[in-house]
Amino acid sequence: RVLVGIKVDESHANWVTAYNMLTGIRVSVSRTNAKLDRPLTDADFEAKQKSTFDIAGNELVPSAKYDFKFKDYAPWVFRHLRALFRLDPADYLMSLTGKYILSELGSPGKSGSFFYFSRDYKYIIKTIHRSEHKFLRKILKDYYQHVTDNPNTLLSQFYGLHRVKMPYGKKIHFVIMNNLFPPHRDIHQTFDLKGSTVGRDFIEDDLDKNPRATLKDLNWLRRRRRVELALEKKRLFLDQLQKDVGLLQRLQIMDYSLLIGIHDRQRGNEENLRDKTLQIFNPGGDVPEEYDPQSVLMRTPSKLENQRKARELRQMIKSERPIPMGQSSSRMPDELDEGHNRPGFVFNQDDGGFRATHEDGSPADEIYYLGVIDCLTHYGIIKKIEHFWKGLSSDSTKISALPPQEYGERFMNFISGVTMSAEEAAREAQERDQA
Ligand code: ATP
Ligand code: CA
Ligand code: CA
Repeated sequence: RVLVGIKVDESHANWVTAYNMLTGIRVSVSRTNAKLDRPLTDADFEAKQKSTFDIAGNELVPSAKYDFKFKDYAPWVFRHLRALFRLDPADYLMSLTGKYILSELGSPGKSGSFFYFSRDYKYIIKTIHRSEHKFLRKILKDYYQHVTDNPNTLLSQFYGLHRVKMPYGKKIHFVIMNNLFPPHRDIHQTFDLKGSTVGRDFIEDDLDKNPRATLKDLNWLRRRRRVELALEKKRLFLDQLQKDVGLLQRLQIMDYSLLIGIHDRQRGNEENLRDKTLQIFNPGGDVPEEYDPQSVLMRTPSKLENQRKARELRQMIKSERPIPMGQSSSRMPDELDEGHNRPGFVFNQDDGGFRATHEDGSPADEIYYLGVIDCLTHYGIIKKIEHFWKGLSSDSTKISALPPQEYGERFMNFISGVTMSAEEAAREAQERDQA
């Protein structure tokens, strides 16, 4: 997948969909947040709220540019999840509100999902298949319990689950989740690791064309890469990962991966396209068709402007008055200076990520931004068929579609393997030879 964002503006094929998604989110999230908080009930996990938007509007739903239907799933559960993940309600809405709203990430992968970044790059909207949607609703209670028990979970943080339907259009399901990568730092290398080797190779020749491409297991092995963490940090990481994988195994989930973005402090932010940003937002200038979504976020709005905006939004939420989309400016929260160390979150403690450490505990040059993504694939009939067919042609323990228990074990083995120091690895190899 090419990590280049295309701005979704009025000329974009998905503009209407994107506009409707954001209008729906804005209205439904502010509706739920306007109410007095209360404990969750069992019914909250099943709940869904439908709204019909049109040009006229009514006392419950403001007028919108286009006709569409919107469904908000388990709104109270997601409100509580956002609180557990310590999102500020006004900030959340502000990020997803605005004129230059989203950028679309490359072309859809083999799953057919589309990815959109919020304009401040903090959130990702991912369209998901109906089966993934149904599955998330089914496991929502387990997921909620897990997040409650594991505030530092490495699993994708889900902030909302919705559906939009346009007249004569398909139903589009989508989730809103955390972007693992920070808006304020260059990510110099990205790996998507599953612990499988079959089909897990990004063609190295294509790296020239796309130096920021997401690399895979074989690229990782070829580079003899390691996740360099001293004892204490390694323990925190592997313990949490084991708990998260335990949940995924129990829920019969597979096909997930560990996404690792690496920022190299030696290289710093030299590739940041701050100047280009101004060009993009220069009202008179030409807007380039394609640009790095990161660059959009590098524009520094005045702090006062942001404070004013945040105040406005808080008031609107309180008064249950919907936020007019067109009016909000293209400004965004002050991303560059604050709010990146998410206090209390272990894996975001160092500049928003988790800093590499040498064996003696001293800090190393790299910062890892990491988490477990794509965790809504249930080991259902499709995977069973895939397992059968692929199993005929290659070593069946190496293919990526394995039953969830084995998938999780292989995944954990691979990841704990790459966190080993050279010494540990040598010791392990020796023990293996002796056995
Ligand atoms: P497939 O099922 O074919 O693997 P998918 O459409 O389900 O694809 P994902 O595996 O969820 O897509 O994500 C594809 C890529 O998008 C990842 O490898 C990563 O580069 C990027 N990505 C996904 N989720 C995130 C996230 N939360 N933060 C940052 N980048 C992400
Ligand atoms: Ca994937
Ligand atoms: Ca997938």
